[in-house]
Amino acid sequence: MTETTAELRESPESTTVVVIGAGPAGLTVANLLRRSGIDCVVLERRTRERVAQRQRAGIVEARAVRMFDSWGLADQVLGSGTYDGLLEFRVDGESHLVSDDHGSGGPRARLCPQQVLVQKLTAVYLAEGGDLRFEAADVSLHDLAGDRPTVRYRTADGALRSINCAFVAGCDGDHGISRAAVPDGVLTAHAFDHGIGWLTVLADAPPPAHPLFAVSPHGFAAHFARGPHASRYYLQCPPDDHPGAWPDSRVWDALRTRLADVALLPGPITDREIFRLRSLVHDPMQYGRLFLVGDAAHIVSPLGGKGMNLALYDADLFARAVRDSIRDHDDTGLRSYSQRCLRRVWNDQEFSHWLTRTLHEAGDDTQSGSFQRGLARARLDRLFTSRNAVRAFAELMAGLNPVRHGSDFE
Ligand SMILES: Cc1cc2nc3c(=O)[nH]c(=O)nc-3n(C[C@H](O)[C@H](O)[C@H](O)COP(=O)(O)OP(=O)(O)OC[C@H]3O[C@@H](n4cnc5c(N)ncnc54)[C@H](O)[C@@H]3O)c2cc1C
Repeated sequence: MTETTAELRESPESTTVVVIGAGPAGLTVANLLRRSGIDCVVLERRTRERVAQRQRAGIVEARAVRMFDSWGLADQVLGSGTYDGLLEFRVDGESHLVSDDHGSGGPRARLCPQQVLVQKLTAVYLAEGGDLRFEAADVSLHDLAGDRPTVRYRTADGALRSINCAFVAGCDGDHGISRAAVPDGVLTAHAFDHGIGWLTVLADAPPPAHPLFAVSPHGFAAHFARGPHASRYYLQCPPDDHPGAWPDSRVWDALRTRLADVALLPGPITDREIFRLRSLVHDPMQYGRLFLVGDAAHIVSPLGGKGMNLALYDADLFARAVRDSIRDHDDTGLRSYSQRCLRRVWNDQEFSHWLTRTLHEAGDDTQSGSFQRGLARARLDRLFTSRNAVRAFAELMAGLNPVRHGSDFE
């Protein structure tokens, strides 16, 4: 008998759900399960400090605010940030304000940077006695197609642990081990590469009055709040560009030109990365007792702010499905999980794709050509002039447009 086998025999554990990953998806699943009285263990490979610092999304859409509200968690996890619901589109220096008022009343979207949401979800879960294990290394999934899957991992001090469970929630993002544990041929990947790069910059610099999208022949740029004294900026660039090619002076010059704002105040840059705009959907989002949640199943190009919000949507559906299965022996939610999630995933992919193409093609036409540029400008003009176009846009931004599910709409 090897030492590893002996160690495993000494420490078998059992729980209902093992959650892999403590990002927005995993922490939301864990909190909602806990609120439903269902035990779970969260395994996260990074330290608590590292997870708490990851800055990405900035706005929790109206649908997700309502979701947290329905679980009695909104005030605890979303913080106090609000915004006036106006978006600014600046086209060749001319400003157009578009309202996100979708007309259905109820809570609006909330300004809540992703790292703040993660910090608060972590704090609430731990304060309520949740089991969250950071620095879990070498996580591996076994017997996913059986009745009791096993999850193995190594603790920070090197001990091997094993947990039996009824379900695994794969919430470990696009590069995690959950999706990779699914046998070849089970999942179909639907991928799209926009052929566009973004330089993304975080800086301790004054945020804009409203989320700002700028279109011009110089290329796309955007400016968003990431707290009362912090901003995130995006600058369109070649997808194979390098952050080293963007010293501070070039970043601020390009932003001033593309945002048509000579007075733009700079600040210390705290992070700068290049990434490729891409979209990806894996279908189905389930294999046996493994359920993929959030970025582990799909990536959405950032325009439209849907990635994190979709992760929250999946988390809610998954937690409700597990609750119904355990409490009421009703597996309907588990059986329809993938199909229901994918309807909204494709809905949001389409919105994000539309906005991405429109805002890039309306500006620099060297890649897409003058015809596409004309079409994109016409789409923007419609958004600036038609009340119905604005209403449809606002509903999509809020995540509140009905999506068909079988013969129903939700
Ligand atoms: C630059 C940028 C800007 C964005 N802006 C927005 C926006 O404005 N609005 C929006 O809604 N979305 C935005 N997104 C998308 C959003 O950040 C993601 O959709 C969101 O993080 C998904 O959450 P998740 O929990 O599914 O995955 P993640 O946030 O990736 O969390 C996965 C977690 O799993 C852990 N993990 C990974 N592998 C393992 C393993 N083997 N074992 C254990 N743990 C593991 C990771 O450490 C991580 O903590 C943006 C993304 C980027 C890159």
